[in-house]
This record gives sequence, C-alpha cells and structure tokens, in this order.
Amino acid sequence: MIGVLALQGDVREHAAAVSSCGLRAVPVRRPAELDAVDALVIPGGESTTMSRLLETFELLDPLRNRIAAGMPAYGACAGMILLASQILDGRPDQQQLGGLDVVVRRNAFGRQVDSFEADLQVDGVSGGPVRAVFIRAPWVETVGPGVQVLATVPQLTLTGTDAGAAAGRPVAVRQGPVLATSFHPEITGDLRVHALFCAMVRESAAAA
Ligand code: GLN
Repeated sequence: MIGVLALQGDVREHAAAVSSCGLRAVPVRRPAELDAVDALVIPGGESTTMSRLLETFELLDPLRNRIAAGMPAYGACAGMILLASQILDGRPDQQQLGGLDVVVRRNAFGRQVDSFEADLQVDGVSGGPVRAVFIRAPWVETVGPGVQVLATVPQLTLTGTDAGAAAGRPVAVRQGPVLATSFHPEITGDLRVHALFCAMVRESAAAA
C-alpha cells in the first residue's frame, strides 16, 4: 500500500498514477495513516508550506523516522526539496526529511525558464524520453556518493529555449529506496516514473 502525503498538491493525480501501476494508494494526513503504508509519495506544492503543515499535523518526526528506517519514498518538485539533506535558497525555518544525500537549490531556474517543459532521457525508464513539466522547480546542485543521477536538463526546452546554465543539472535522482524528480510526471498521463517507483516498492517489499 502506497500513501500519498495529502497536505497539499496533486494528491489525486499521484494516487491515480499509483493505482494504474496495480498498487493501492491511500491519502496520508495522520501519523496512524503513515504507520499503515509501505511507501510514500510526496507531491509538489510549496516546500516551506508543506514543512509547516508536517509540523502542524505531527508528521515530521514520524516521517523522518520511517525514511531513516528505509521506507521507499518518491518526492516530486517540493517533495524533492523536502527529501534533500540540504537546501539552498530555502527559508531558515524550513525542515528537511532527509533520505537523499543531495544539495538542492530551490526555485533554481532563472526567470527565462522558470516554468517549462522538456523531453528527458531517464535512466531506469525505457520506451523513449519522458515529457517533463517543470513548475518553479528545484535542481540538484551536488550529489553524495550513494546517489544515482537518473536525468539531467537538456540544452533545449520543448519550445527551443536554450536552458543555459541549467543544462546538465540533475533533475531526477535515486538513492536506494528514495526517488525524486524536479518535475511533475503526475500531470502528463505518462505513468513510467510512477511505474519505476512502484517497482522499487515491490523490490523493497520482496527484500523485507
Ligand atoms: N517552488 C516550490 C517550492 O519551493 C516547488 C514548486 C513545485 O512543487 N511545483 O517548494
């Protein structure tokens, strides 16, 4: 059973994508609901707001503990920011869940390519490039030794805009059972990133 953190963001779309992979998806708002799931999707939204809501709903420490204990987690956009061990351009009181040994830069793309789409080759996802929708997204600035970079920003966006200094920045990463993307696969109808996560969840359940 995969939980979708339901404090903010595209909860329904992520739940639908998980269900399409053949796993049960349930919303998570309370510690007891977190206890009941085998894995968690953390949707996009606004990471400072989500950080505050995690504290209000008393989910911050339980979630940190589950992630530290090896629960599979997938964070999209703000979800990636929350999973990162360190943030650049965050708010000083913004809390981290950990799980991904990366430094993430929040709102990293300059004004010119603030929100854009691009086709990305994602390692672990077969069948051609993934259409990636970036919405005031973060990028990964540095990765620790245990982190695999699965995709980077191409030189050109879908509209032909030069990505400039953003080109080559990691935007999909994996560390063991933790997956994160800067972009939003839940809104494109392409379920392959969720299918990758569902495969990771099945793998982790089989190993337990
Ligand atoms: N810019 C947002 C943040 O700082 C993330 C945007 C998103 O999740 N689409 O949290």
